[in-house]
Amino acid sequence: PLLINQLAAGEVVTRPSAVVKELLENAIDAYATNIEVHITQGGMGMIEVIDNGVGIHPDDMVMAVTRHATSKVADVAHLHGITTLGFRGEALAATAAVSRLTLISSHDDSGIGRQLQVAGILDDMPKLIPVVHHRGTTITVKDLYFNVPARRGNLKSIATEFGHIETMFREVALARADVALTLFHDNKKRLSLSVNTISNDNENYLPLSRLEQATGLALTEQAIEVAVDLSSLTQHPSISSHSTHVTNGYTDNAGAMQSARISGWLWPSCDTNHHLPKLIYVNGRLVKEALISNQLRQMAQSAQLAGMGYALYFELPTQWLNVNVHPSKQRIKISPLNNIMAHLSHAVRAKLRTLNP
Ligand code: ADP
Ligand code: MG
Repeated sequence: PLLINQLAAGEVVTRPSAVVKELLENAIDAYATNIEVHITQGGMGMIEVIDNGVGIHPDDMVMAVTRHATSKVADVAHLHGITTLGFRGEALAATAAVSRLTLISSHDDSGIGRQLQVAGILDDMPKLIPVVHHRGTTITVKDLYFNVPARRGNLKSIATEFGHIETMFREVALARADVALTLFHDNKKRLSLSVNTISNDNENYLPLSRLEQATGLALTEQAIEVAVDLSSLTQHPSISSHSTHVTNGYTDNAGAMQSARISGWLWPSCDTNHHLPKLIYVNGRLVKEALISNQLRQMAQSAQLAGMGYALYFELPTQWLNVNVHPSKQRIKISPLNNIMAHLSHAVRAKLRTLNP
């Protein structure tokens, strides 16, 4: 099991920022509204993620660090219905296989949690020690790759590794404005993103205030809002057989309401040196999808706005997605993509026409 875990670790735990990403996604999956990340030495000393999510029941703590024990994927068909960011049940096990990992979690308001430690190998009889802890989870990862010298040797400088962590942290912060996020490096606060409580009256998925905070750019002035209703596509044959149509979206197999829309912002610019964001999020996950970005580039070019920036948030029914295309989960397959792009293109071109009629 040690070897298998270390092999898996190579795929998931490629560098410190990959650990931070998985831990952040777990905290978000656990409905945390406040997440603190403490890093030392670019993540090579310590990575600690503290959340106020639902926590882990003592009976489930050992399972949480055991490979595939928690996989939410029961069968391949189920891959099309995933709503959580994590679903393979291997990130914690993989991290624990190549570090000294401490998991502390409390699932209630007793003020008491359980602590479990793993250093490369999980004990046959792992001990759960009661400790003081608020409801939520704290995961501390020390000495990454202490038992894999070749990987440790591949790590870059502290500044480079922390740079990767910071980039990834911003990407997560741009996915969810409803979560407060703070990042510390060597005890210094580096980024702090609050939750904007003022209601977002235009109902855009992500308020401009979070975009500005997370990117450090002034983005309000030139922003053009985009909103595309895709509910007409919920009649698409690939999903209509197993979903019930309702007024403004529809219910999935589990009965949850799902919306089909795109919202976000465009920043018109003809200056290609202008470093405007170019972001595409699908159901809270940053994706790199050449088909989408190429079409956006074409729309921009035909409006003489080659430097156009965009932050577009796709909220799509999970049946339309297959996120299991690549371990990084950044590649994604969207089923009625051509229809979606036709709607988006129509809306974007209409907005751009109002700029230079
Ligand atoms: P996955 O996210 O793919 O399920 P992970 O290895 O990342 O697998 O996590 C294993 C399990 O541990 C999760 O499914 C979840 O039940 C639990 N878990 C991990 N981190 C947290 C957290 N911060 N809060 C609550 N539960 C967590
Ligand atoms: Mg996970």
